[in-house]
Amino acid sequence: MRFFLKTTLFLGEGSLKNVEKIVNENERVLVFSSRSMDRLGFLGEVTKYLEEAGAVYETIIGVPAEPTLEAVEEILPKVKEFEPEMFIAIGGGSVIDVAKAVKVFYDVPDLNFDDVAIFSRFQKMNPIPKLKTKLIAIPSTSGAGSEVSAASVIKKGDTKYTLVSPELCPDYAILDPRLPEKMPKEVARNSGLDVLVHAIEAYVSKAATPFSDAYAIKAAKTVFEYLEKSVSGDREAREKIHYAATMAGIAFLNGRLGLVHAMSHKAAWIGPHGLVNAILLPYVMEYNIKRAPGRYDSLAKELGFKDVEELYFKVIELNEKLAVPKLSEIVDEKEFMEKLDEMAKKAYEDPLVNFNPVEPTVDEIKEIYMKAFRGE
Ligand code: NAP
Ligand code: FE
Repeated sequence: MRFFLKTTLFLGEGSLKNVEKIVNENERVLVFSSRSMDRLGFLGEVTKYLEEAGAVYETIIGVPAEPTLEAVEEILPKVKEFEPEMFIAIGGGSVIDVAKAVKVFYDVPDLNFDDVAIFSRFQKMNPIPKLKTKLIAIPSTSGAGSEVSAASVIKKGDTKYTLVSPELCPDYAILDPRLPEKMPKEVARNSGLDVLVHAIEAYVSKAATPFSDAYAIKAAKTVFEYLEKSVSGDREAREKIHYAATMAGIAFLNGRLGLVHAMSHKAAWIGPHGLVNAILLPYVMEYNIKRAPGRYDSLAKELGFKDVEELYFKVIELNEKLAVPKLSEIVDEKEFMEKLDEMAKKAYEDPLVNFNPVEPTVDEIKEIYMKAFRGE
């Protein structure tokens, strides 16, 4: 067993100012920012710190959500032209994932996405070579955990694929609770529910350790206690969920994830990552609990619930309280049915299935998608 964390964390109100400490004079820094971080003035604050540190910087504003390979490829020439030594990514998981993917293809120009992306657990994986450009991740959502994780999730066509390597773990993460304070309700809900999925999947994973468990338990507990308040805008709750997101990130960096993520990555065309995960979670739990209840039961007890049934109902209740829609409400039936076979096959091949407590068949995955669609 092994427990790993590469990223140095700075946290607390105003911790954004650590940018000035981290960067060096004359260092060439490229900042990737989402539009909201520019609009809300946080990008401006970052560039002020860069100026104070005497760094040479450039900004790329408007990194899209749920990023595609095209978005990464479009950014690359600008990056190559500037020749940065350090990246800063300020925004949600999407912006951080773009910075990570750009880092791979900027540091190793001969590499193609298809060479290193993980398409199937049955295919030989090519490791990502050593990378040199430093990365500071500054999350503005409270969910993805990309600020500490080894993954970058990129959409190619209808499907998301991951690049995974410890080389992708950011060097620094800055968790300043002023940033997620401004999240719209839906972003707070969707990203916050991703935290719960990360915590539960990392805990029940075949790769879980007592150390990843500790982070998973604390993150899940925090979600059950504070997510509703956080979504309704409570400041203290938003801060707690912000840290819980990174804790769940540390949990899955080590414990990995499972069938919910395998299935949501293949259903990425349907909606935002956290939302699709939240919809699928109870159905995957029902499937796993029937066949391997042990770890769910132990998580239930850690969280102060009576038994595994109570955990399962709390998950459903939280979705209901937060008005998570049914799958059939956000997807066109015809399109869903047309894509079902392909999604199930690709989800079955997803490497995260290796960590799920149960090895499903393609037909069983299809049935889980169908149950989620019918809302049974
Ligand atoms: P996101 O897609 O990064 O952000 C969603 C939207 O929220 C953005 O469009 C952004 O709008 C807005 N936003 C973000 N922060 C805001 C703030 N503080 N105030 C106002 N608006 C804000 O959401 P996310 O849930 O963090 O990331 C989802 C992505 O992460 C998915 O692509 C998923 O696959 C990936 N993911 C990665 C990992 C990993 O380990 N790498 C793990 C789980 C999920 P603007 O664009 O207008 O700014
Ligand atoms: Fe996730």
